[in-house]
Order: sequence, then C-alpha cells, then structure tokens
Amino acid sequence: MSSMPPSTTNYSALLITAGGRLVCARCTAKSKRTGEQCGRPALKASKNQKCEFHGGRGNSGPKTPKGKARAAAAHTKTGEFSKAAREAHARASARLLRLEDAAIVLGLITDTRRSPGRKPNCYVQVKDLAGVAQMMVDDVLHRVGGSDGG
Ligand SMILES: [Zn+2]
Repeated sequence: MSSMPPSTTNYSALLITAGGRLVCARCTAKSKRTGEQCGRPALKASKNQKCEFHGGRGNSGPKTPKGKARAAAAHTKTGEFSKAAREAHARASARLLRLEDAAIVLGLITDTRRSPGRKPNCYVQVKDLAGVAQMMVDDVLHRVGGSDGG
C-alpha cells in the first residue's frame, strides 16, 4: 500500500486517454491473474494512486477491535449463523447422531439405514459397547460443564 511503482517493466504512472488529449494518473494496481497493470485512471483524491476498484477511495473499513465489533454488531440480525451458534448446532447434531449409533449398537434400532447427509466435523461414530459407555461418560461430563443443552 505505498506509492512505490510495481516491479513490472512496462509500468506506467500516467495514462494518456481521449485520443491523446488527456493525461492523468494511472491506477498502479497489478493484476494477480495476468500480471498487467490496471488500465483505469487513478482517482484524484487517491493517496495511493489507485482507481475506485482497487482501493483508491482509501477507506477499507474499521481497523480497531472496537470499530470491527461495532461493524459486526451492525451486520448481525439474529446471531443464528454466528460461529458460536453454528458450533453449538454442530455439537447438538453430533450428539443426535451418536445417540442413533448407540441405539443401533444396543439393538434398539434394527433398521440399518442411517440418517443421510453430511456429518459435523466433531462427530465420532459409536461402533461398539465401549463407545456407548464412552459416549455416556462424555454426556455426563458435558452436562456438568453445562454450556449448551441438546
Ligand atoms: Zn485500478
């Protein structure tokens, strides 16, 4: 983010346009894909000689933690898709799947078709009686810890 010219050989600080009648500052952004310089004129108010597509307006959002928190709060409606809510939902889904595993291991469910769909990353399949016992221990410990219900 400086006004240093990029290291390309055919870099140009000026843009000649309108059939040679206008000379203006050229955007100094370099394409990641082609490696070529942006062909748009830089904004006059741009401190870093960039067009409006490449940050020439100079405002890239809040920087301080307080400002970021304020922006996040302004864009949050219900918090349904917040990281904490999604993790709680994943844990609850994994718990249901483990209960289904346990019911199959214990013979309570004879239908071998399993619940379809993607499993949460925190899901570990319960395969035998030892797994059922471990699941019950985890469940008790989780309830003592008591972060979220399921
Ligand atoms: Zn540009």
